[in-house]
Amino acid sequence: MSLVEMSDASRLFWLAGVVFVLVVAIQGVMSLTFLVKRQRLQSRLSQEQLRLLEQQVTLTARLHQTQTDMKHFFWSGLRKFRIVKKQSEGRDLVSFYLKPEDDRALPVFFPGQFLTFQVWPNKGGKSVTRCYSLSSSPQDLDHYRITIKRIVAGANGEPGLVSNFFFDTLAEGDTVDVRAPSGHFYFNETRSGPVVLIGGGVGVTPVFSMLTALATAASPRETWFFYGVKNGAEHLWKDPLTALASAREHIRLHVCYSQPEASDRKGIDYQHAGHVDIERLKRLLPANNYDFFVCGPADMMNTLIPDLIQWGVPEGRIHSETFNPKSSRQMLGDTASKKAVRFLRSGKSVTWPDDGQTLLALAETQQIPMDSGCRVGHCGACKTVLKQGEVFYQQQPSKPPEPGTVLACVAIPKTDLEVDA
Ligand SMILES: Cc1cc2nc3c(=O)[nH]c(=O)nc-3n(C[C@H](O)[C@H](O)[C@H](O)COP(=O)(O)OP(=O)(O)OC[C@H]3O[C@@H](n4cnc5c(N)ncnc54)[C@H](O)[C@@H]3O)c2cc1C
Repeated sequence: MSLVEMSDASRLFWLAGVVFVLVVAIQGVMSLTFLVKRQRLQSRLSQEQLRLLEQQVTLTARLHQTQTDMKHFFWSGLRKFRIVKKQSEGRDLVSFYLKPEDDRALPVFFPGQFLTFQVWPNKGGKSVTRCYSLSSSPQDLDHYRITIKRIVAGANGEPGLVSNFFFDTLAEGDTVDVRAPSGHFYFNETRSGPVVLIGGGVGVTPVFSMLTALATAASPRETWFFYGVKNGAEHLWKDPLTALASAREHIRLHVCYSQPEASDRKGIDYQHAGHVDIERLKRLLPANNYDFFVCGPADMMNTLIPDLIQWGVPEGRIHSETFNPKSSRQMLGDTASKKAVRFLRSGKSVTWPDDGQTLLALAETQQIPMDSGCRVGHCGACKTVLKQGEVFYQQQPSKPPEPGTVLACVAIPKTDLEVDA
């Protein structure tokens, strides 16, 4: 029977049947398409998960290898290094290339770590300890490199003792006593996620080392590199930096000159006139969701770190190092109330001035002799016996001192103190 011959009721019934079958068929096709898509997505997700897992395994293996190498080639105490090359890097900036005198292999270091030097700048005088960040790539273990800025006149108006000794006295072929790489301000290659590296002045040394590691990393991480410097005369590694950034899409370089000279070309030598400050970061970065590594002079650190926190960057994602202890002191402010400090050997009793200064700084104001080195709790040169009392640490020492001793350069009194100095 054709459709025309059917009664109205049968025709309606037949049409409803056809519609029903069509709906079921469409639903079936849709479910099938959805299933296929889900299957494809799941397989893509599994592939991505697998890729990430493989990456994690490779990086963990590399970290393990690095740690094994470190343990294997590490040295304790002082090791003699020969200066194999001394190279001017700009106005009052010089790099030293160092190789161990024993010719044995060098341990891998984490980019951002520093070497500790013990030198004798005054003939027949006492040794002096200073730290210098490794400015070379952790992948290049033929030598270590450090880069030093000459302190022409420091806060006290005096020329820097050790930086000038390196500039004026030490030459290629000389040897220096060096402690193994150390420090907590380093870049961990096993972590993923985007990073912002910020270097101010000679504070660019550790972050430059981090950048070299990021540039050659197996999996590219979005990297922003901000470098604040006075002008072209003090611009470290201009060509290598430009080459690194222009060859890699994931690296964005922003050089800021605070006092550009007439010969400095904007857009070629540098990108911005002014400082690396929070306004610039807010303008250029798409978000604040980065790990920040910051190293620079006191002024920069004292404003930028609180500004980053205020911008909503969690403190755990801000990694910083200070070369000049003043900046850490100012950043932390006053944390002690008036306390009595007795320096037993010198027979002096002093009332803590409640201005946040460290035990070492207090001893210096009283002309009480106390050894010092890095002044940021790293090198241990200022370790002093604590006979009585308790201290806070302005910033955590790299290694906690043994019980009954304090690291005077970062210690401030919690109670009245008696120290063996
Ligand atoms: C972990 C760490 C890593 C470091 N890495 C580097 C590096 O890669 N390159 C580098 O050049 N320096 C670096 N420093 C600083 C270096 O250790 C010395 O402090 C610096 O060379 C000055 O020593 P000095 O003996 O010449 O000056 P000092 O005789 O100790 O000081 C003379 C005067 O200069 C002031 N002063 C000291 N240090 C500074 C400073 N950094 N900036 C401005 N004024 C200062 C002092 O307050 C004082 O008034 C680093 C420091 C630390 C703690």
